[in-house]
Amino acid sequence: MNKVYLSLGTNMGNRLGYLNRAYDMLEDSVYIFSIKKSKIYETKAWGYTEQPDFLNMCVEIDTSLDPQEMLKFCQNIEKKLNRKRVIKWGPRTIDVDILLYNNEVIDTENLKIPHPLMKERAFVIRPLLDLNTELNIKGECISDIFNKLSNEEKRNVLEFEINENNPFSKQKDIIINREKGTIFGKDKIVIAGPCAIESYDQFLKTAEFVKSQGADILRGGAYKPRTSSFSFKGLKEEGLEILKEVRKKTKMPVITELMDIRDLEKVYDSTDIIQIGSRNMQNFPLLSEAGKQDKPVMLKRGLAATINEWICSAEYIAVEGNEKIIMCERGIRTYDDYTRNTLDLAAVPIIKKETGLPVIVDPSHGTGIRELVKPMSYAALACGADGLMVEVHPNPEEALSDGEQSLEFDDFKEMMEKIKKNYK
Ligand code: PEP
Ligand code: MN
Repeated sequence: MNKVYLSLGTNMGNRLGYLNRAYDMLEDSVYIFSIKKSKIYETKAWGYTEQPDFLNMCVEIDTSLDPQEMLKFCQNIEKKLNRKRVIKWGPRTIDVDILLYNNEVIDTENLKIPHPLMKERAFVIRPLLDLNTELNIKGECISDIFNKLSNEEKRNVLEFEINENNPFSKQKDIIINREKGTIFGKDKIVIAGPCAIESYDQFLKTAEFVKSQGADILRGGAYKPRTSSFSFKGLKEEGLEILKEVRKKTKMPVITELMDIRDLEKVYDSTDIIQIGSRNMQNFPLLSEAGKQDKPVMLKRGLAATINEWICSAEYIAVEGNEKIIMCERGIRTYDDYTRNTLDLAAVPIIKKETGLPVIVDPSHGTGIRELVKPMSYAALACGADGLMVEVHPNPEEALSDGEQSLEFDDFKEMMEKIKKNYK
């Protein structure tokens, strides 16, 4: 068995997410028999300093891999985590370096062990000290090496405070309307519109009305996930065209659902926020692709998903680098069938505490019953939701989908008046 020390560093996107994912890949390997990790440190960038701070940690492993195999393994982690190294010393999603391999000295073209610069770098020596205070590096004890580092070098490496439950701690603001300065997570946001885009007239009429009542974002599905294949499945590309036109005409930011990876480009070009629907909450390839693009993503809770599964799905998006995630509670299936779903409002403060992400509540799908939309909207805001998503239709009786849960214009007006008075 070989004792190996590795250094992990990251300064792009969801840094904690990358560290955790790299660590998990090491831990899951059948060639790695035991693994120990240091604390995590935040470090000012080295060399080219106009770049974000790094998170660094070290791990100690027992492995059967020889040095070249170990190198390949590390490179594979970097590849899988999508490292894009544009400039030398530049930002990277994850860097995995071999520091020490037993007491061996290796000096080949592609691998130098001990790592040549490690003795001068506090961000390597400091975490290594957590793992083993007796380490000997090129004939020198690690604590002596640490003591010899300049104060400035040591000061640049600070223990990183993590809330273990919060891989989203560096999440960025999701600004929805620059002119108005509307920000998810800070303001109460109302998303409103029909379940599906049915025609230009229906969509424009709804958009103009919800806008006149103070809605912040316009919703409307072009691709509709329907239980029965015989139901209206949306206008698809034609729907996206209508979405774009109405967006331009009303100047409202819009949200629409992405159901299939193959439609990503089209949907991306038509919308301000990408919605991942309940049925796709665990469509992992779709989540990863949503994480690789830069528009905000609203992740609806799976209809039978636990809170933990829902957070795990958000992490799928975040680890790809997109931390502009909005969580949407839309009810879950329980034994009760009086309502379409059981709206789980306790999830709102839980998600906020666990992830720090903004949470939107959708009482339309959450209850399936028009009369319940208003009271549950007020309840959602009262328990800390950052906003609402409600379905509104000019003539719900004639709606091609979800008419029974869609608000009529008068209802929406009444609801908005109350919300404006109490929350805006
Ligand atoms: C929707 O909001 O359009 C929708 C289909 O909701 P859900 O994915 O929550 O069922
Ligand atoms: Mn609907």
